Amino acid sequence: MGTSYISNNPFACASGLCYHKPDAQEGMLAELASVHTMKDNKSLKQSAARLHRGLAKLYLDAHCELDYADPLQLLVATILSAQCTDTRVNLVTPALFARYPDAQAFADADLGELENAIQSTGFFRNKAKNIKACCRIIVEKHGGQVPGTMEELVPLPGIGRKTANVILGNAFGVPGITVDTHMMRLSQRMGLTKEDDPEKIERDLMELVPKKDWTLFSHRMIFHGRRVCFARKPDCEGCVLAKDCPRIGVEKMKGRKGEGAKG
Ligand code: SF4
Repeated sequence: MGTSYISNNPFACASGLCYHKPDAQEGMLAELASVHTMKDNKSLKQSAARLHRGLAKLYLDAHCELDYADPLQLLVATILSAQCTDTRVNLVTPALFARYPDAQAFADADLGELENAIQSTGFFRNKAKNIKACCRIIVEKHGGQVPGTMEELVPLPGIGRKTANVILGNAFGVPGITVDTHMMRLSQRMGLTKEDDPEKIERDLMELVPKKDWTLFSHRMIFHGRRVCFARKPDCEGCVLAKDCPRIGVEKMKGRKGEGAKG
C-alpha cells in the first residue's frame, strides 16, 4: 500500500503497488464523466451494491494482509507497506516487533539500526524517520497508545488518510474506505467515481457504499485488484463482475503500445 498520492492516471502503474502514473490516458476521464452524467446517485448506489455482492461471493473473508497483533504494529506495518508488498513487510516485521515491542522502544531506537531492520522494504530512511517521529508523538501526546480517531492520526508523521483508515478499520473497528492504488483503479474502471484524487474518490465511495460495509468493501476491492483486475492486464474474461462492470478505460488501455506486462 503506498502512502503518497501522485495523481493522474491509475492505469499506467505496472506493479499496481505505486501511484506513479506517467502517461495520462486520453479520454478516460471524459468517459467516466459521461457515465456519471447518465447515472444518477441512486443507480450508482445500485451498481456499487451489485459489484460489492459479486466481490463478497468471491472474497467472503477478505482482510488486511499485513500481519499485526495490536494497533501500533499495524501502524508500523502500514508505514512500511508504502511502495512495498505486504508479503515483504510480513517477512520483516516479526524480528522488528520483537526488537521494538512498543512505541517507547521505537521512539528511542537508534535511527541507523532501525533503518537496517527495515531496509528491504525500500525507502527505508524516510520510513525509519517517520516511524521514530510518529512513535515519539504517540508516547508524548497519547500515553504510548495509538489514538483511535482520524483527527488524531492524520497529523502523525507518515500517516495520511489512507493509512489512518487502515488503522481505524482494522484495529479499532471504525468503518473506513481505504483508497490505495487498487481502490483508485478499480473504482474508476467500475464507474463508481470520475475523480482521480484519493480524497475525492473516498468521498464518492462513502456516498455509494453503506457505512457498515466500508472496511470490508475496501478489503474486497484490494483483493480483486491484486488477483484479477490487474493494473496493466485485467482478466476481464475471467472476472465474475464482468456483466456489471463498465470497464471504463480498459479497452483503450489494452490498445496502448508497450502493454502486456503482467500487473
Ligand atoms: S470486468 Fe475487468 S475492469 Fe471490471 S472489475 Fe473485472 S477485471 Fe476489472
